Amino acid sequence: MTDGLALLGQLPPQSQAAIRLLWQILPDARLVGGVVRDLLANRPITDVDMATPQPPEAVLHALQQAGVRAVPTGLEHGTVTAVIDAAPYEITTLRRDEETDGRHARVSWTADWQEDAQRRDFTINALSLDRAGGLHDYFGGQADLAAGHVRFVGDAVLRIQEDALRILRYFRFQARYGRGQPDGSALQAISSQVALLRGLSVERIWSELKRILAGPQVVETLHLMEQAGVLAEIMPGGASLARLERLVATGAPRDPLLLLVALAHQPRQVVQRLKVSRAESDFVQALLRCFTQEEKKLFAQGAGEALDDALRVLLSEEPRQVLLGRLWLAEGDDAPVMADGGASFRTVRACLEALETPEFPLAGRDVLAAGLPAGPQVGHMLGQVRQWWRAGGCRAGRVACLAQLAAVLHAQPH
Ligand code: ATP
Ligand code: MG
Repeated sequence: MTDGLALLGQLPPQSQAAIRLLWQILPDARLVGGVVRDLLANRPITDVDMATPQPPEAVLHALQQAGVRAVPTGLEHGTVTAVIDAAPYEITTLRRDEETDGRHARVSWTADWQEDAQRRDFTINALSLDRAGGLHDYFGGQADLAAGHVRFVGDAVLRIQEDALRILRYFRFQARYGRGQPDGSALQAISSQVALLRGLSVERIWSELKRILAGPQVVETLHLMEQAGVLAEIMPGGASLARLERLVATGAPRDPLLLLVALAHQPRQVVQRLKVSRAESDFVQALLRCFTQEEKKLFAQGAGEALDDALRVLLSEEPRQVLLGRLWLAEGDDAPVMADGGASFRTVRACLEALETPEFPLAGRDVLAAGLPAGPQVGHMLGQVRQWWRAGGCRAGRVACLAQLAAVLHAQPH
């Protein structure tokens, strides 16, 4: 028998105190979902969610009466957020699905804990822990967690038809908690229902996919997704695991965008379809620019002044993260066929990390101060000096750049 209250000892003292306070105010509430799962699995807790049979207005009122800051963050879903010592605690009224269409659910409140547990996705996510330390496990979630078995609550096909996002959630949780053979009936159900992914909002798809790409066991998980036909559904233009595997083998950081570029045959098309943020899309576009043959030749020469110059020039144009990402991609692609097995890429990365980002030392006002009237010529002049500065490996300081500016102005036809 699990002593639920002993489990709470894993939480930081501040969260423990907040939960005790909430239990004084709402004695029927229980901890639910991820927090219970992760306490049992002895994993770090990201957020603490509670559920309660009381309707949301009653929760709001009880918290306010007790002097706890309460924010009605999602009353229509039954959620009130208590803020204690600046940390949020979501308290959601027990729910029952009245109607589902594969994307949204219309819910009503219930006082039946099992009904609420039944609408949760996986048995390991359907556990709850009450104030007396009692663990409530209606569907064998504790045993599944211990066995590394990610299993749908109830019939997998029906659960996916209620909400197709559960397909992607399955792979996210399988990656994190799954061990051994994945659940056959889950995979079969997913394969038969993949077309339902088309009805989901691309924002929900991207938010799950990003977490899968940044999560553990990414290669194994993507293989499962490929076999179930999921990748073909969510990646217009197709996907190839071989390139991603080579990238992962280099030890590249688990940046979801970097992995996406290695995975998708048409990364531009994918980011457009998934409506990723502007910053994310810019990052992907920048990763897709390749190094020139000349740059690659310099990389192969190893550390030295010529390499530093070339890297400084690159750094003057592009963020370090982009260049590092492109080096990881190039290493994944080229290392297997290179005589040094990619050692030169590691040297280049180390050199790049050691360099400061060069700042061009002049601005428009310097051109004006040199006597040129305001107008398009100013930017043009500045560009010429900048070009000269880059050609010299971005080494020239302000004084040398001013001298070059004077020379360029002097050479101008009057
Ligand atoms: P994480 O640590 O990744 O946040 P979590 O279990 O807290 O894991 P959330 O996505 O935050 O996951 O959801 C909280 C809980 O709500 C889940 O544990 C699950 O019980 C339930 N849940 C969330 N989304 C769904 C869904 N689409 N279908 C069914 N249940 C869901
Ligand atoms: Mg959560």
